[in-house]
Amino acid sequence: MKTTECFHLPVMPLKIAARLYILAGLALATVVLLSTAALHFVTRTGEDVRDIRKLVQVELSQVYDMELLLERHRRIVESAPVELDRERIAHLRDRARDVIEDMYGNVPKIASGPGAALGETLAELTTQGERALDLAAEFAQEEAIKQVAAYSAVARKIQTEIASTKIEHMSRFERDLKRLAASGNELTRWVEVGTLVALLLIGPFSLLVTGQIVRRLKRMTQTMLRLAEHDTSVHVSGTRFRDELGDMARALSVFKANAIELLSQQREIQTLNRRFKFALDNMSRGLSMFDSERRLIVCNARYGELYGLPEHLLVPGTPFSDIRRWRISNGTGVAGDTIDGPGKGWPFESRALIDRGEMIPLAHDLEDGRIIQVSFQPLDGGGWVALHEDATEERRQDARIERLAHFDSVTNIANRYFFKERLDSAFGDVAKSEIGFAVHWIDLDRFKEVNDTFGHPTGDALLQQVAARLNNAVRADDFVARLGGDEFAVIQTGVQGNAETEPLALRLIRVLSEPYMIGALRIEIGASVGVVVAPLQGETAEDLIRNADIALYQAKASGRGCHVNFEPALIEDLKARRSLEADLLEALRGEVFDLHYQPILDLSSGTVTVCEALMRWKHPVRGFVSPAVFIPVAEEMGAICELGEFALRRACTDAAHWPDGIKVAVNLSAVQFAEGDLYQTVLAVLAETGLAPHRLELEITETVLMRDDAATIQTLVRLRDLGITIALDDFGTGFSSLNYLRRFPFDKIKIDQSFIRDLPSRTECVAIVRAIADLAKTLGMRTVAEGVETNDHLQRVASAGCDAVQGYLISRPVAREALAGAIANACGRAHAVAA
Ligand code: C2E
Ligand code: CA
Ligand code: CA
Repeated sequence: MKTTECFHLPVMPLKIAARLYILAGLALATVVLLSTAALHFVTRTGEDVRDIRKLVQVELSQVYDMELLLERHRRIVESAPVELDRERIAHLRDRARDVIEDMYGNVPKIASGPGAALGETLAELTTQGERALDLAAEFAQEEAIKQVAAYSAVARKIQTEIASTKIEHMSRFERDLKRLAASGNELTRWVEVGTLVALLLIGPFSLLVTGQIVRRLKRMTQTMLRLAEHDTSVHVSGTRFRDELGDMARALSVFKANAIELLSQQREIQTLNRRFKFALDNMSRGLSMFDSERRLIVCNARYGELYGLPEHLLVPGTPFSDIRRWRISNGTGVAGDTIDGPGKGWPFESRALIDRGEMIPLAHDLEDGRIIQVSFQPLDGGGWVALHEDATEERRQDARIERLAHFDSVTNIANRYFFKERLDSAFGDVAKSEIGFAVHWIDLDRFKEVNDTFGHPTGDALLQQVAARLNNAVRADDFVARLGGDEFAVIQTGVQGNAETEPLALRLIRVLSEPYMIGALRIEIGASVGVVVAPLQGETAEDLIRNADIALYQAKASGRGCHVNFEPALIEDLKARRSLEADLLEALRGEVFDLHYQPILDLSSGTVTVCEALMRWKHPVRGFVSPAVFIPVAEEMGAICELGEFALRRACTDAAHWPDGIKVAVNLSAVQFAEGDLYQTVLAVLAETGLAPHRLELEITETVLMRDDAATIQTLVRLRDLGITIALDDFGTGFSSLNYLRRFPFDKIKIDQSFIRDLPSRTECVAIVRAIADLAKTLGMRTVAEGVETNDHLQRVASAGCDAVQGYLISRPVAREALAGAIANACGRAHAVAA
């Protein structure tokens, strides 16, 4: 706010106070003057009156006394001549002397003024009287009478003097009276003149001063009234005066400046308020603020919307209890809250928390099923501000995420993460109860084939059935989880050793191996299980999982469909595999791989038309390592492409030296299709070795087609277009081999040796081999029976309609140097059989 301004102050002769003081002073002076005049005249009149009284009381009485004394003296003197007694005359003389004495006493009192000569006359009177008395004492009566006459003349003279004194006093008295009257008149005149002067002086001046003051006061009052009505355009006049009203006007102009600023601030505040309200009403969250009396201070529209509150409950001052009551009776109350009972989770229930001044986030479950997340923030001096957010969807999302975090979305059973948690808590239980538990680590056999063949939806359906079967196979205390892909795990509680795990492991494999019906599809898969007992075979979750994995690996390695209990020796096996991997890596660097060739006999011609190249690894310590062992390891290690290319180059190089009618068959791994450019490699090797494409046969297994991608099929088509023969190896080991026949028009089908091996014992194998041979014929494909070891095998496959045979009966795989002999032998044997 502005405080003061610098004003140009004109010189005003007198301030208002001064003027008022002057007015008052003038009035006072007039009063003093008039009263002084009155006092003066009253005093003077009093004196005059006193003079007159003195005159009347004293002077005149003395005159009269004198007259009386004179009379008395005269009678004494006049009575003396007739007295005859001397004694009496003496007595008269004494009395005359007394009277004269008294008369002398009065003389000074009346002798002023006209009676000044009285003393001399009195002396004469005394002398005349004394003489008359002397004459009487001598009894000279006549002289005495004469003397009395002289005396009387003197007495009359005195009488006259007294009379003139009396007259003199009377005239003085008259004069005094006149003077008194004159002073009364003077007083009246003074008062009249004084009043007139006062009226003339004070009247106009006070009218002028009052008029000025009143006018300026009026103007200021109007200014103030207009300012009160927020009219800031009003001009504040009179600020130039250097008096009190000037001060007031200046204060008023400061007040006006403040009012202007206040108004602008008010306007700013209003704008701010509008913005604040806009912001409040556009908040995604509801906001409510209550005071210490639990009355609404402010809330936004969202708050009302959230709880469906009517307008009249959103007005500031609304008691919280009204809002709560309304919510309870309209279904938006906190679940479990009743009109009479204190609601749980309400702010007053959380008083202690609020008192601690902490932010309190609470999730309110509403009667209508929604979840409102409310954050209470206590206010200084009581009350609270709360933010309300509909967290229903978020909570559902959280629940979903929570589920996703802990449960597998496909099977709805626990996932790997949840399994890990459960495993940790199982270890916790072990620490308390000292009773162990077991983990069955399950891997489905051939699941990948199902997925690849029938697609993911079928695969998912299968996994769901697997999960259901696992859940049914375990006790309520046990725990089933899907660890990913086709891996599952069961935590079996209350286990001391393998005696307890054995039945469950067997049961798990049995139930999982039973046929599944998915829609119209009947699917058979198997399961391998690795079993580990805690805490005996693993004191931490990590150890336990590692050991379970080792056991499972062993179960898979030993032919699948079985379970393996973990034992420390398995670690040795794993180590062996690791060392094999290391050796393989080493071998890849040196030229230790070689190819052996196994002739394949064509039954109709009785000649060897194809020789299959089979990889051989001669290890300095291990001796010959079977490709069935190291090929999968090489595939896993990612070394198969290099190894495969070597086999292809070696085989083509060798075959280029063979007679024209003999092809070379080279095995390809599925990995070779997935990685690198197989077509280019084949093309390059053929060009390099000079082998005609029609003399090369490539053997692939179903796994190549499992991925069902267009690129693989295209590669096969392009290779076939070059004139290369494509054979489907190990046919019948998968369970949907027929399906693959549709995907690519193979030249040849190699019936897996497992069928041939079982031909004598299982009649259905004969039927299968025959069916395959017939089907192949229909499709224009040739058939090769693998693993023909006996003449019986040969007879049966020949009668089943197979076109060619491969097996120890014909020839074992042999080194290239021995191949010619082996072929010759094979042909010879064929002729023998034919004969
Ligand atoms: P395969 O392609 O089915 O090869 C035939 C396997 O059966 C060979 O085993 C062979 O020695 C064996 N065999 C042949 N006749 C008989 C018989 O009458 N009775 C029995 N019991 N076995 C017979 P081998 O050489 O141990 O090869 C095993 C597998 O290794 C092959 O099975 C093939 O899948 C793979 N393999 C071998 N060489 C290569 C190669 O260069 N590349 C690729 N990718 N795989 C290869
Ligand atoms: Ca083969
Ligand atoms: Ca084979």
